[in-house]
Amino acid sequence: MKNEKKFLVNSMLGSLARWLRIIGYDTVYWIGEDKDLLEKASLENRIILTKDKNLYYQAIKNNMKAILIKSNDIISIFKQLVLEIGINVKINFEKTRCPLCNSLLILNKNSIRKVWHCPSCGKKYWIGKHWKEINRKINLIKEGVKNEKYEVIIRRRKNIS
Ligand SMILES: [Zn+2]
Repeated sequence: MKNEKKFLVNSMLGSLARWLRIIGYDTVYWIGEDKDLLEKASLENRIILTKDKNLYYQAIKNNMKAILIKSNDIISIFKQLVLEIGINVKINFEKTRCPLCNSLLILNKNSIRKVWHCPSCGKKYWIGKHWKEINRKINLIKEGVKNEKYEVIIRRRKNIS
């Protein structure tokens, strides 16, 4: 994969970490000292996503990529990520990762229905009721992003800053 974005998400954003993994982004969830966090993100070339202003400014000062998350709502957060760094909100079965531990899931091709398993934590996943909910949310995110882009264009046209 060429230049795939990788993330490091800090505390308070656990749900964001799970969503990023589901849509296929390599995402570390980090709880610990800022110093260690910055070091890990730098070593692994990860974009830091945080609600912590101090951490955000430290990262920027060190010439690292970081995004200050503004909202608590997952759909608004995704809107921000799409608009600011152009992440791709869609499920790719080849790239989907375990929401719990970030390992690439393996598709079990012998089963009648599609079943994925996680080679690290052993959890199994399949397309069930839960799947509908995931798809519904992904569509909401896409819809939201579309509307947001439209609003930006309108604002520009009207020349309102
Ligand atoms: Zn796992």
